[in-house]
Amino acid sequence: MKNFWCEVDLDKIQHNVDLIKGLSNKKKFMAVLKGNAYGLGIEKIAEFLEDKVDYFAVADLTEARRINTEKEILLLSPLVSKEDFAVDMENLIYTVDNEELLESLDKEKTYKIHIYVDTGMSRMGIKLENLDKVIENINSNFKNIIIDGIYSHLHNTKDVKYTLKQIESFKKVTLKYKDSIQNIHLLNSSGLLKEDVRKAVDFTNLVRCGNVIYGYDGFSVGFKKVYSFKAKAVNKHKVKKGSFVGYSLAYKAKRNMTIGVLGFGNIEHFGFSKDVKHNVFYDLLKVIYNHIKFRPVIFKGNTGVKILGRPNMNVTLIDFDNFSMEDVFTVDISPILADSAIEKVYKREINE
Ligand SMILES: *Cc1c(COP(=O)(O)O)cnc(C)c1O
Repeated sequence: MKNFWCEVDLDKIQHNVDLIKGLSNKKKFMAVLKGNAYGLGIEKIAEFLEDKVDYFAVADLTEARRINTEKEILLLSPLVSKEDFAVDMENLIYTVDNEELLESLDKEKTYKIHIYVDTGMSRMGIKLENLDKVIENINSNFKNIIIDGIYSHLHNTKDVKYTLKQIESFKKVTLKYKDSIQNIHLLNSSGLLKEDVRKAVDFTNLVRCGNVIYGYDGFSVGFKKVYSFKAKAVNKHKVKKGSFVGYSLAYKAKRNMTIGVLGFGNIEHFGFSKDVKHNVFYDLLKVIYNHIKFRPVIFKGNTGVKILGRPNMNVTLIDFDNFSMEDVFTVDISPILADSAIEKVYKREINE
């Protein structure tokens, strides 16, 4: 019994989705579910979002197969080989950034694609200046390919001026396809959060975002964090003043005290600290730092709970003097970094 779980609040997801729709001004909504829905469990999140989205997007075919949906799924990773084209799923849309690859496809079958254009990230994509040529080539030589969308990625939205320029160059080339191609899209979460950026993409008709659905970002405009890791003690015991607690004599009890045992540790990807060089000077700094600034990662309500020693493989020890076995603690870890095997509990209170 680990007594450790990740609570996912579906009402908050609903709230975030409503907010996305409000901010994006009636654009179609593509929910990004890559990375196991940012660590929250792709199957359940997809099921909940099914009637709230126009499209799903995932990283690759393996993720797409985990979703049970009537909606179309855009594969965000561009195709690199013919094998990436699944023949057994009807609802896939492929990202293409290499027209030569289209040659190798089955001419008898129809494929829906979105063309990815590079607007400055140089990660992948067709160069903007080649887009017209590529579209013309596909339209005249590949009758089995449907160009259903064009998109690019806003990769530096902290710099609004840069982003507005990026949008402008994308617009110049894509605007003429507004009526002939179904989906022209740019907005991701960080773009959606910026008013100037939202305004500048008025020529696009779809928002493609992940972060803000799950509330990793955007608190300032009202998005809510939808996940929370929770734990109850699996055991407790008393120790005498002066006893050492945990590995490496890392903690010595300053009084007779009660120790609480929490059933998670490094295995759940909890408690990894940066590798630090140990020397006297550094250790001294650390002592001072910890004295001034105790930054807790386990909480009871708003109060930080002291971890004794370092988290082990599968347990973490805490100062349990003021707590009981019924107390529920919250644990500050990012679902993206936490072990995906941690049990998820999906909560829904509002009935539709
Ligand atoms: C991950 C990803 C997104 C979603 O980004 P968020 O910041 O989570 O909204 C959008 N587009 C592409 C191409 C991505 O890879």
